[in-house]
Order: sequence, then structure tokens, then C-alpha cells
Amino acid sequence: MSILEDARELAAQGPICDPCLGRVFADKSYGLTNAERGRSLRVAAALEDDEEPEDVAREDCWVCEGECARFDDWAERCAESVEDVEFDTYQVGTRAPPLVEENEVLLREGAGLPDDAGELFKSEFNREVGKRFGRLTETDVEFGRPDVQFLLDIDADTVEVEVNSTFVYGRYRKLERDIPQTEWPCNKCHGSGYLGKQPCDKCDGTGYMYQDSVEGLSAPVVMDVMDGTDAKFHGAGREDVDALMVGTGRPFVIEVMEPRRRNVDVERLEGDINAFAEGKIEVEGLRLAEYDMVERVKELNASKRYRAEVEFGDDVSETELTDALEELDGATIEQYTPNRVDHRRAALTRTREVFEATGEWENERHATVEIHGAGGLYIKELVSGDDGRTNPSLAGILGVDAEVTALDVTGVYGVDEEFEDEAFFRD
Ligand SMILES: [Zn+2]
Ligand SMILES: [Zn+2]
Repeated sequence: MSILEDARELAAQGPICDPCLGRVFADKSYGLTNAERGRSLRVAAALEDDEEPEDVAREDCWVCEGECARFDDWAERCAESVEDVEFDTYQVGTRAPPLVEENEVLLREGAGLPDDAGELFKSEFNREVGKRFGRLTETDVEFGRPDVQFLLDIDADTVEVEVNSTFVYGRYRKLERDIPQTEWPCNKCHGSGYLGKQPCDKCDGTGYMYQDSVEGLSAPVVMDVMDGTDAKFHGAGREDVDALMVGTGRPFVIEVMEPRRRNVDVERLEGDINAFAEGKIEVEGLRLAEYDMVERVKELNASKRYRAEVEFGDDVSETELTDALEELDGATIEQYTPNRVDHRRAALTRTREVFEATGEWENERHATVEIHGAGGLYIKELVSGDDGRTNPSLAGILGVDAEVTALDVTGVYGVDEEFEDEAFFRD
């Protein structure tokens, strides 16, 4: 059958609106709306038959039950639902009424066409409402990860809105010891701050093991400025609670849930965080980041540079220290999972490279050692030997006990590429 014959068969089944008629031929031609397709087919058929083309009001359509007349209404409702939300991109989804979906199948079957000829009601609805919404709000449709997402439930007559998280990247320095990276709930009261009706004695009712955390000193400020409902801190690894993080700082991403503002002034935000943190931590290089920056900071292969204050159990000469560090420089270290590390982590022996080992001898019992090593190298154990579980080690080579008394991380570097790749930023 020709396309006009198909169109006649479709139209003969009852009053059908232009979009519903045209939708059956959605895969034919380009640059047309389905309404234009439907109207054109009706006119062409009428010309061939030398008759007046039929005019069906959308409200009277038996297939969509008049829903195709409401594209503008739905677009306006979407716009109203995000009036006080800042966004650049959106996506519209539609939950089609089951009855309309049945009608679509009946329509096609009645004309001897495949059930899935053309496209579905919901695809057209998404596109037509989306186009109108884009014009109303001067924003762009985005099929990957939009800032806001709508679900139109036609039967329930509701617009569900999802405001997707937004992300801020930066590097932090931790300038005081005994600050964990993320908030650490008290293990006695499980973070509630209470034991029964009494304030918890372990955390003084705060609910936290430590008063401050890098997360607690930064994320709430970002959440506040972006007017979100919650915020989560994602770090590129973490240093020990008692270690400083200085030098290059450590990459992080703060995720803000349901933000009402996204395009904030990052320099001002940086100043706000640093003022709030009162010198306990500081952040720099803040940028507005894409969603996949979270995975990047978590997964990117990174090497670390450390500075360790070391105390020896016996006298060590300057030459002995220099020789021992030369032996560690470029060495491959075998480390059995240290005792102090999370016991849920599988115990295994793994190998890690020491890229560079240097140091400064202070006296027979004290030195400062600088190590640049592959991600995952345990520095305290590299110095102490961890009762033979780390090999080689500084203590093992020297033949004396050696212990780290203070540890700072001075650099975090992407191994194969930099963390700061432009493709991951949105500003
Ligand atoms: Zn219709
Ligand atoms: Zn507690």
C-alpha cells in the first residue's frame, strides 16, 4: 500500500489528530513535526480524492484522547515547577496512559501496519513538551545527564521533578593534625550524640569522633552557597588522620544534592570555605565540575610524595642513612597488609614502587625522610618494616628500629595524566 492509502486507512477508524496520524510515519522524511506529517498526508489524500481535507481538533482525537492538545500546558507546568531553580539543561520523560498505548496498537493494527510503526506517543510527548519548555526557559535539552529531569505522569496529572547533583572540584591542604577527611561518627553512640537520654560521654554529645573533618569544614559551605539539600565529599584517596596534607594539596570533589544554584563564583566560594575553616584546612583551584569528575578523582592512578619525621632506636650515621635511602630509591617494595589497616580489607602481599627516596640526617637518632611512591605504598611500614611484613624497609636496611613520628603528604600527582583535565570542568 502507498503511504496515502495507509493514511486513509488510519483516518477512517475514527477522529484522529494530526500528531497521532503523522506519528505513524515519524520515520519518513526530515525536519517535520508529526503534526506537519499528519496534516500533509491529509491534504495530499484530499487532493488526490478531490475532496475537502478533514480538520480534526486535537481534543477530539480517539487515539491520544486529546492529550496532544496539551503540549503547551505541560511545558508551562514544568517551567513553574523549577521557577526557583538554576539550570542549563533538561530532559523530559513521559509516563503514557496505558489506554493511549493500547489505542496506538489498535490504530496500527486497524490499518494493517506493524504495532511499532513510526514512533510511540511518549517519544513525541517528550520531544514536543521538551521543545516548548526549552523555548520558555531558554535552556537546552540534554540526553546524558541533564541538570533537571521531568517525568510527566499523564494519568496521574503530575509533574515529577528531579534536580540532579552538581559538583565542585578543588585541592585541599590539611594544616592541622587529627582531622579526618570525612565525618567520622562516634562509635559509642553511632553518631546520635546520645546514650539513652544522656549525652554520649565519648564524643561529648557531638556524635563525632573528631570535632572537625575536611568534609565538615568545606562541604556545608558549598551546600549553603549552592542552596542544596545535602553535600558529599569525594577525595582522591586519603591521608591518615594524624598526617598533614600540604604542598600540592589533594584533589577532591564536593557533590551538592538538589542545588538551586549551580553557576556560582568559585573564587568567592574558595574564600568562603577558607574563612569558614579558620586555617585548619584550605582549598584552592576550585572549578565547577562535571559528574564524571567524581569517578576521576576516585579512580585516577596517582602517586604520592611524603615527608616523614623518623626516630631511630639506635645510632645511625649520616652515611648509613644516605646509603640506606639510596637502596630504597627506585626499589620495589613487598608489603603485607599492615595490622593497623582496616581488618575488613583482604590481607595480601602486594608490590609498590618507590620512585624517589631522599632525606636529611639531623642527628644519630633523628632524620627527615622524603619518599615519592606509587599509590597505595604504606610509608609508616616502609620506615618501620612492620615486623618483617614490609620488605625492604628503612629499618631493615639499617638494622635498627625506625619509627615515623610525624607524617605529611606533600604531593598528589596523576601518574599518566593530570587530574585537572578541561573535559571534566563545566566552567
Ligand atoms: Zn491524538
Ligand atoms: Zn558518641
